[in-house]
Amino acid sequence: MSVSKLVFPPLTHIGWGSLQQLLPEVEKYDVKNILVVTDPMLAQIGLADRVTAPLKENGYEVTLYTEVIPEPPLEVGEKLVSFTRDGGFEMVIGIGGGSALDLAKLAAVMAEHDGPAADYLNLSGTKHVEKKGLPKILIPTTAGTGSEVTNISVLSLKTTKDVVTHDNLLADVAIVDAELTVSVPPRVTAATGIDALTHAVEAYVSVNASPVSDGLALQAIRLIARSLRKAVEDGSDKQARIDMSQGSYIAGLAFFNAGVAGVHALAYPLGGQFHLAHGESNAVLLPYVMGYIRNSCPKRMADILNALGGNSSYLSEEEASYKCVEELERLVKDVGIPSTLAEFDIPESALESLTRDGAKQKRLLARSPLPLTENDIREIYSSAFKGKVTEPIM
Ligand code: NAD
Repeated sequence: MSVSKLVFPPLTHIGWGSLQQLLPEVEKYDVKNILVVTDPMLAQIGLADRVTAPLKENGYEVTLYTEVIPEPPLEVGEKLVSFTRDGGFEMVIGIGGGSALDLAKLAAVMAEHDGPAADYLNLSGTKHVEKKGLPKILIPTTAGTGSEVTNISVLSLKTTKDVVTHDNLLADVAIVDAELTVSVPPRVTAATGIDALTHAVEAYVSVNASPVSDGLALQAIRLIARSLRKAVEDGSDKQARIDMSQGSYIAGLAFFNAGVAGVHALAYPLGGQFHLAHGESNAVLLPYVMGYIRNSCPKRMADILNALGGNSSYLSEEEASYKCVEELERLVKDVGIPSTLAEFDIPESALESLTRDGAKQKRLLARSPLPLTENDIREIYSSAFKGKVTEPIM
């Protein structure tokens, strides 16, 4: 029997209207000077005010930092880290998509560490996170990344992405309120929703999967499969938003504990080199990676098919795994995400640089049920250019 280490964030409030729990949670801490990290869009549409207003009304000193940009480059993170160190803040609250939440937790932890955040990166850093940093409360406004429950902060580098990761980056409190996701536009709803689905799918087939992460992953897939199309079609569909918000949270718990693998490893260079949104880069690769590895985990692919709403009972595992890839492909298409790299205007001449950078993501690739060599990675990117799922040559 294998032993799994399972880590969950200490406290979550989840459900429509749960933002009301923010003030009582902040009041549990002996703090006065609070930094709220968000992006300009969330400030503009008034969502950031929903965090800052009740705090200000109750006598807290609140500084709103709005310089987060999507898929934040390392330099944007460094700037926020300096700002946080200089500001004498006692708590950091992140409100936004994964980009804002990732920078909020980075800033909270780096406030009590020396040197640039670059020193703490997973691939190239030389220092280790040692201290817990400032208390952090994370409030997602997209249903996708699960950043509110993970110990990861993702940063964009010149040609790929890297992470700062340590349990000290975990939120002290997560508040997951689906009401905050109603304003997400359809394209972002689609991309972030497929991101959440990818977390659950990759967690379920991960070599580090456990019975606990399995239960979480399958439930996340069920919720997302039944509601993503609806949330994209009609953003005001309350039940669809609730399903997506909870599905994203549960998928976050699943992948934080079991890990993601090949889809994410190959998606990172698309974000780094071509600035594709994280969700879209996962979405375009999902069918190709899962199609390539499906024969290494056919039973699990059959389970995923069932969770997606299909029926594997009259199929062989081999057939079910094939059908599962078809279902994933269909869902990505139905929510309007282009299904080839060419449709994202990525030139085929990038094949080698993508392959090189994808192969560097050893932390992620180590969880793939089918070990992926550099040749396999080239083959998968190549199939994503052509729009035709391929399988390894045996
Ligand atoms: P995002 O945070 O970049 O936001 C995308 C866009 O949606 C932005 O323009 C933002 O302003 C807008 N937006 C967000 N919420 C909105 C709302 N309620 N209404 C209207 N507009 C809204 O997108 P994301 O996909 O949530 O996060 C992506 C980042 O998260 C990437 O950097 C990715 O690498 C990272 N990520 C982190 C983890 C983790 O565990 N830490 C996991 C997956 C991805």
